[in-house]
Amino acid sequence: MTIFHKIINREIPADIVYEDDLCLAFRDINAQAPTHVLIIPKEQIVSLDELDSDHQLLMGHLLLKVREVAKSLGLSGGYRIAVNCGEDGGQSVDHLHIHLFGGRKLNWPPG
Ligand code: AMP
Repeated sequence: MTIFHKIINREIPADIVYEDDLCLAFRDINAQAPTHVLIIPKEQIVSLDELDSDHQLLMGHLLLKVREVAKSLGLSGGYRIAVNCGEDGGQSVDHLHIHLFGGRKLNWPPG
């Protein structure tokens, strides 16, 4: 069980900004931008690499929720999402998550 599963189960606290049956969005504990939120599926999926066609609707749902959360947090100037996958991708928590960054002009390319 990962730390994100514990957040879903309310075993450890998080600053939750959105929740529905399929997903949870909460602020990253180590924010890299004025707004840094993680959007995660409630289903335990390790990474992007574990997805199959059964997850098509879920992933569409997550992306639409990114947009909704960005809007609700006032990111009218734009924002960025990132999904780290695997060791080389910099993934440190083995539960699929979408990073949402905003609130400042973001640099490109990322490191
Ligand atoms: P990644 O490196 O892509 O796997 O991202 C994992 C993210 O989870 C990092 O940005 C961490 O700061 C964040 N994180 C780890 N533990 C927590 C927690 N308890 N609450 C909120 N964010 C967390």
